[in-house]
Amino acid sequence: MNYKITLIPGDGTGPEIAESTRRVLDATGVKIDWEIAEAGCDVLEKYGTPLPEDVLKSIRRNKVAIKGPITTPIGSGFRSVNVALRKELDLYTCLRPCKTYKGVKSKYENIDLVIVRENTEDLYAGVEFEAGSEESKKIIELSKNKIRIDSAISIKPISKFASERIVRFAFEYAIKHKRKKVTAITKANIMKFTDGLFFTVAREVAKKYSGIEYEERLIDNMCMQLVQKPELYDVLVLPNLYGDIISDLCAGLIGGLGIAPGANIGNDIALFEPVHGSAPKYKGMNKVNPTAMILSGVLMLEYLGEKAAAKKLERVVSEVISEKKVVTYDLGGTAKTSEMADEIIKKLGD
Ligand code: NAD
Repeated sequence: MNYKITLIPGDGTGPEIAESTRRVLDATGVKIDWEIAEAGCDVLEKYGTPLPEDVLKSIRRNKVAIKGPITTPIGSGFRSVNVALRKELDLYTCLRPCKTYKGVKSKYENIDLVIVRENTEDLYAGVEFEAGSEESKKIIELSKNKIRIDSAISIKPISKFASERIVRFAFEYAIKHKRKKVTAITKANIMKFTDGLFFTVAREVAKKYSGIEYEERLIDNMCMQLVQKPELYDVLVLPNLYGDIISDLCAGLIGGLGIAPGANIGNDIALFEPVHGSAPKYKGMNKVNPTAMILSGVLMLEYLGEKAAAKKLERVVSEVISEKKVVTYDLGGTAKTSEMADEIIKKLGD
């Protein structure tokens, strides 16, 4: 049976890496019927929105999608398409494995961390009030004037429901992937109610998984720990904003954004995408590294249960990187995006 999968090329350098990823995934032998869905800045004029309803319909129908990055214009009327997709489809887990591959220039070796980031609430909830608005005035009143009168305000909701399901996901992932430890990370010493709730819930969930070690860290300390002794950590579970920042920090530990894959997972829908953005300055140059999106494809094959194909593709990608002959600029080579994909395809056939 062929899988029907939604492919969103995205914008900026997205279409270039998406095309390479599609060709590579086809070369694994897994039979996929691609349904192309256009979203992002490049289609704004055509559809009047960067996220046409048909894109959501396609993902809801097919249940599995892979996407290239999409630009978030700063200060425009549109919120992030990426955030909208995660919220609309309730893709509550953002899963980002961070692994060092031989041949990638990095100050670290043998990093093997998994970031489990809550994807639907926290400061990403989009509940913001402009400075001087009636709403912000009311909140300032409620705060008993602890907030300055000319403030803009963002609300940080953390719910028991969302915290519980993300921590449970982290433990279930740890069991399934034979991991030993889950570390929950917040700033609960300062945000006692919101981040405090996240820790309280995490502790309760942890009690049900006695085979997996559980510990807590504060986000500031965690940044230092990850830079100094990343080998102490295994699966990390975090609210949305801390998860976003730690993801980039960990991408830095493994040698850059060009090789960091990701997945957004809900109860019955999953959307795979690289951690990096649309790198617009390289648009149309066939220059950026397709690996992060190809490795997101590896996560997608695993999710589909195509374990042998996933394993083989990851091995081949790792081989191409370590040989350093046909790799993109960020990995020390001169190959084009499509040439690196061709090399992976050639080796898949060997
Ligand atoms: P970015 O990740 O697009 O790029 C930052 C820099 O990292 C690039 O200039 C480039 O030097 C390097 N880089 C990124 N991807 C690379 C690759 N595949 N190969 C080689 N080098 C690579 O970050 P940005 O410039 O902050 O964001 C650009 C746009 O993308 C913004 O609008 C942002 O909101 C958006 N964004 C989208 C997503 C997503 O679609 N999920 C994620 C992050 C950022």
